[in-house]
Amino acid sequence: MLCETCYWCATYLDKTKVVDKCPLCSATVMSSFPIMPDESFVFSYDAKRGIELDFGRRK
Ligand SMILES: [Zn+2]
Repeated sequence: MLCETCYWCATYLDKTKVVDKCPLCSATVMSSFPIMPDESFVFSYDAKRGIELDFGRRK
């Protein structure tokens, strides 16, 4: 889950706990992307470069 307003993000492994509102800014514009249990990703945000997501296999 990624808030497109303040870039708060979280990974949910339990779908019943997914929120549809950002806990930080209350925006409802949330992006979500599926991720497999054996995959991981690194989220980084840079004001100049924007959002960077590095997906990879969990070791
Ligand atoms: Zn937000």
